[in-house]
Amino acid sequence: MKRLGPIAGVLLVFVLSALALVKVYDKGKDQKPLRYADIPLETIDWFRSLGTGLGDLIGNFTPEPRPFPWDNKGDYGQDPETGLTTLEDDYFIIYFNSTVNKNKAEKCQKLAHASIPRQEEIMGKYYYPSDMNGRKVPIYLTANQEEYAEILTQFDAAEVAGSSSGVTISELSPSGYYLKAIALNGEYVLDPDRERENYMREVLWHELSHYCFFASLNYSVRMGLPMWTYEGIAEYVGIPDRRPRFTDEAIEQMRADCHLMDPHFPYTFEVYAGGQSIFCHMEDEYKPDGLKSFLKTMYSRGVSESMRENFSVTVPQFEADWKTNLDKFK
Ligand SMILES: [Zn+2]
Repeated sequence: MKRLGPIAGVLLVFVLSALALVKVYDKGKDQKPLRYADIPLETIDWFRSLGTGLGDLIGNFTPEPRPFPWDNKGDYGQDPETGLTTLEDDYFIIYFNSTVNKNKAEKCQKLAHASIPRQEEIMGKYYYPSDMNGRKVPIYLTANQEEYAEILTQFDAAEVAGSSSGVTISELSPSGYYLKAIALNGEYVLDPDRERENYMREVLWHELSHYCFFASLNYSVRMGLPMWTYEGIAEYVGIPDRRPRFTDEAIEQMRADCHLMDPHFPYTFEVYAGGQSIFCHMEDEYKPDGLKSFLKTMYSRGVSESMRENFSVTVPQFEADWKTNLDKFK
């Protein structure tokens, strides 16, 4: 057999390598590339800590990439054993049990759709199933506190069941951000008095804003945003027609308690309504466009850099300005 010359040998190796590459590429075509092969530990710790304390968020981290596609086949409500009915369209699946009137599920579905333009407008983007590898937003509209707690337990989110009207349950993996479920507490959102005040809309839009917020973040960098950023903007999105109001005491308390770079403020009202007032103040000072640019930069570069770049201020300067102006929320 004729031996290959050195040049032919090199060529052969080259051709074989190219073929191997094509093979790898072909195999990879069916799979989206890993988005966050290396998520910094600090970011993982922060994401996992979302449920602790005052929040309505649960964040799990799993080191294994989540297999594609991300459809809804594995949802808890898809199992007939759960006894849940589904109301499904192109973007959302509402899961509810037989004691919840179908009209309420339809209302919830309409409110979810009505939220999309506001999420796009404020959060910068709404995440459709086509952005999430085919996954629709699953919403559990529970009948009462008991069913709410039961469903949250299924998602290992029991710790927030006692204190929340709604919750967003999320997962982070090397494949990116994945929304497991949004659950609404029927004890509150189906209460006739609260319904008159648009409470279901408020809670649902708040939770959907968490979905868009956490889907927008850049997890490949060290990330640890303070709680007022995601709870404050969720209140701002969920309550488009009402600015927060505070008593003199509450204002004094916020002036003493709230430091914008702390992981969270000491009291729930400070994080939620207080956080909302920070965004209302930002809108007053820098117009809605300034607020939107702030969020966009913050998603990948954090609060300090975003304030510096968009408003040419430091965080202490912004904080002092907000505190000085808190009287406008009386
Ligand atoms: Zn929240």
